[in-house]
Amino acid sequence: MQIVPQILFLAALAFTAYLVSRRVLLIRRTILLGKEDQRTDRPAERLRNMLLLAFGQKRMFTRPVVGVLHFLVYIGFILINIELLEIVIDGLLGTHRVFAGFLGSFYTFVLNFFEILAFGVLAACAIFMIRRNIVKVERFQPERHPEMKGWAFLDANIILTMEIVLMTAFLTMNAADYLLQTREVGHFAEVKTGAFVISGFIAPLLSGLSDTALLVIERFAWWFHILGIFFFMVYLTYSKHLHIVLAFPNTYFGDLKPKGEMRNMPAVSEEVKIMLGIAQAPENPGEVGRFGAKDVTDLSWKNLMDAYSCTECGRCTSSCPANQTGKALSPRKIMTDTRDRLEDIQRGWLKNGYDYQDEKTLLGDYISDEEILACTSCNACVQECPVMINPLSIIFELRRFRVMEESKAPQSWNMMFQNLETNMAPWKFSPDQRMEWARE
Ligand code: SF4
Ligand code: SF4
Repeated sequence: MQIVPQILFLAALAFTAYLVSRRVLLIRRTILLGKEDQRTDRPAERLRNMLLLAFGQKRMFTRPVVGVLHFLVYIGFILINIELLEIVIDGLLGTHRVFAGFLGSFYTFVLNFFEILAFGVLAACAIFMIRRNIVKVERFQPERHPEMKGWAFLDANIILTMEIVLMTAFLTMNAADYLLQTREVGHFAEVKTGAFVISGFIAPLLSGLSDTALLVIERFAWWFHILGIFFFMVYLTYSKHLHIVLAFPNTYFGDLKPKGEMRNMPAVSEEVKIMLGIAQAPENPGEVGRFGAKDVTDLSWKNLMDAYSCTECGRCTSSCPANQTGKALSPRKIMTDTRDRLEDIQRGWLKNGYDYQDEKTLLGDYISDEEILACTSCNACVQECPVMINPLSIIFELRRFRVMEESKAPQSWNMMFQNLETNMAPWKFSPDQRMEWARE
């Protein structure tokens, strides 16, 4: 019977690994729906961006208080989960605190450090929950931002609650463990870590309990902690918190071009060159692809990875001049809509097979003309994003489709296009009148 917990642990671990890998492969397949986009040049610069922005979270510190709290949660959660290694070994081998024997007093030092971090994570998550639900920071409020309605709002609260509960379980487990050590109950007598710095304050609250009750609490907290982490790993792949992982590749493959530099369309450039006589028309012109993007399959794989990397922090939206002046546009919504579209495609695949195609399109069913036309192309959203997401690039592609494929530009834009064509400037003056203003 000693082996039963080990078998249960192995089964839980294997099931988690299966669910996570299945989901990761599905997300990879979805991202690869996007078109080819070369993002492997200048590797040193890319690595630097990744270290500064994903690992160092540089842009988060433009809002310093939130930046520090977020960094604490991030580092705390990663470091504390190093302890996961010990839990997994204990779970598989049926040992108890397997590293304590090897590391001696250093083990106590490390666990003390983890407990301080755990307390920091707990406090930071509580502050984040207060900001969202009690202080009601404007950019998270569904009443003002429709993309924060329903699941988006709930998701943030679920993950914050989960982190608080997991850290509490970790501290409670340590407190019960310490009391069992002092009472020399069973194998707890073999490991003497002493009281830890935070759980040492919880231990007196449990000291009146019987040995059996403490054993139950210690085991319950241990299983709850590890199963909670397994659940968290699966949940992550369905949540905006996937950015914990995707922030790294997303910043590595981020756009290195200066902001505002337009990405020319090769088919159009070629056509212009042929018209100007600086390129030869091909003998067998291939089929010209769609101009711009109507659906996610017309976007690049990087646009689609951006959608999965979005943290829904709303920094882009809060600095968007269109949004600030009450227009329908929110760059965060552009990203969440793109992700929703991808998730709908996935659901269709899972139900009807990978050949399934529905009738919906990103432009029209998810994002409206009003939204994309409100963009001033100022690049503020691109500048603000902590993980190098580029909502403007998606907006441009959708606009290109509306204007170049469907000729559905607003009337004022059509006049401008005409002026560009005939006067080589957006205004209605001919080129020879251009210096009139300087005559005097
Ligand atoms: S580029 Fe467009 S979407 Fe981005 S901040 Fe400027 S107006 Fe808003
Ligand atoms: S696009 Fe960037 S700035 Fe905007 S919500 Fe997503 S992560 Fe935040």
